[in-house]
Amino acid sequence: MNSLFDLSGKVAVVTGGNGGIGLGMATGLAQAGATLVIAGRDEHKNLAAVTQLQTLGATALAVPVDVQSEASIHALVEQAVKHFGRIDIWVNNAGMNIRKPPQDYELAEWNKVLQTNLTSAFSCSQAVYPEFKKNGSGKIINIGSMMSLFGASFATPYAASKGGLVQMTRAMACAWATDNIQVNAILPGWIDTALTRQARIDVKGLHERVLERTPAKRWGLPDDFAGIAVFLASSASDFLTGTAIPVDGGYSIQG
Ligand code: NDP
Repeated sequence: MNSLFDLSGKVAVVTGGNGGIGLGMATGLAQAGATLVIAGRDEHKNLAAVTQLQTLGATALAVPVDVQSEASIHALVEQAVKHFGRIDIWVNNAGMNIRKPPQDYELAEWNKVLQTNLTSAFSCSQAVYPEFKKNGSGKIINIGSMMSLFGASFATPYAASKGGLVQMTRAMACAWATDNIQVNAILPGWIDTALTRQARIDVKGLHERVLERTPAKRWGLPDDFAGIAVFLASSASDFLTGTAIPVDGGYSIQG
């Protein structure tokens, strides 16, 4: 039974893996035996995350990347393959938000959110595809949001990017199924991270509204993403592709 979820010998790249949900997933993958590549812009945060994973006994490498740059993404793939010889799992987790009413966005702000959250996932998936093809298998995990499902008055480009991620997941899942590459999305509910700590400052009453609507009556934690990441990265999910799985304490099914 354990071997279904065993990731020994597998190499996983997590964009934005240096904190929050990304580090929660990286920790789960490491505990299941995977070797980790932690890829964010902030080199100090990258190194701290790698040290944390190493204390669990994992092999881990920090690679600085800005996912807004295709060249930086290609350099990340190159570094990972140079160090570990292969990539088996890719988590498109890097993301950001700019919160304001739709009429107030500069086009540059719209482009930045779309580039960071959606276009980057397209470019990363495209960049890792030859490695997966070479291996005869691969797992891509895209991190969506409740805003893949719902609108939010303060997050037009974010909602567009996260909705787009789900459709991209489905399209790539169809295209690459016969290459034995599974492409799935996780839709986090409201999770306590740096991203939402700022949201709670920017959006009045958000904290209380989240608690009220979430059946589990709590905010999620980065650790809540360890299990789903292992499942979607392991052979336990080999016949599962193109899905978008909410991990939200029931937020999305509350009437
Ligand atoms: P964090 O702000 O803690 O994490 C965001 C991560 O993305 C950081 O590691 C950051 O690292 C990285 N990142 C941002 N921009 C770039 C970039 N241009 N290039 C490389 N890395 C980048 O927030 P969360 O953990 O909450 O967010 C992780 C993902 O989960 C995001 O996609 C977010 O949209 C999604 N999500 C979060 C929810 C929540 O409630 N927290 C809910 C739904 C979805 P660095 O700054 O070093 O580059």
